[in-house]
Amino acid sequence: MPELPDVEAFKEYLDATALHQNIARVRVDDDRILSGTSAQALGRRLKGSRLQGTRRHGKHLFARISGGGWLLLHFGMTGELDYGESNGGLPEYARVVLEFENGRRLAYISRRMLGEVAVLNDADAFIAEHDLGLDALDDAITPEWLQQQFASRPGPVKTALMDQSLIAGIGNVYSDEILFQAGLHPKTRSNRLNHEDLAHLRRTMRRVLRTTAGHQADPAQFPGSYLTTRREKDGRCPKCGGALKTDKVSGRTSYFCPKCQQKR
Ligand SMILES: [Zn+2]
Repeated sequence: MPELPDVEAFKEYLDATALHQNIARVRVDDDRILSGTSAQALGRRLKGSRLQGTRRHGKHLFARISGGGWLLLHFGMTGELDYGESNGGLPEYARVVLEFENGRRLAYISRRMLGEVAVLNDADAFIAEHDLGLDALDDAITPEWLQQQFASRPGPVKTALMDQSLIAGIGNVYSDEILFQAGLHPKTRSNRLNHEDLAHLRRTMRRVLRTTAGHQADPAQFPGSYLTTRREKDGRCPKCGGALKTDKVSGRTSYFCPKCQQKR
């Protein structure tokens, strides 16, 4: 499922391919992916405009429309983007396609239809209305801020990291990676972490997210010490070689090394 590093890669991809091109036509293959708009309204809003720039907040990507407002892209479980020639055929599961006057098109792909495409007047209002917390790479996330937020949370630290209303952008896979790299058991109680633990967790979170985003969220390119590529039955710890364990945390299967991430 796309998390912050994946969406950051989509942002860079959109920035590198689809900005500043006149939109000639919008095709909606399945309007169940649209939220708060219709295919006609989306077309009216985008036709004749250009995408001027992007911003990302957590797992949400916003593209500024030259005529005003924002195009929201949320990728759900399986979403992605594809830029190519308009007459070159469409990728499978292309739900929304922006066709540009220059003969190219940008396709929003969602196999399982769990994503969302919308037009917004104000990205900040959307973030507030949807109760999204600080972006996981926001400088406002300090050890002191974490301590304040975690003080009232006796639940697992993995649950806190995945809570989009607290920190936006981290899901099941990257919370496991961050906790593995930080040497913290996923079920460690958030309110048990002291200032030093939280400073270490914050540093690790930023390093993991930046490193993986820097590799376009492609696990094949991640450092050899990363857990993400070992998420499988009989997976072994890349640090100590021991058997990885799984456990359910907030209903999600969590991978961890019982030796390197001891419960406390
Ligand atoms: Zn280990």
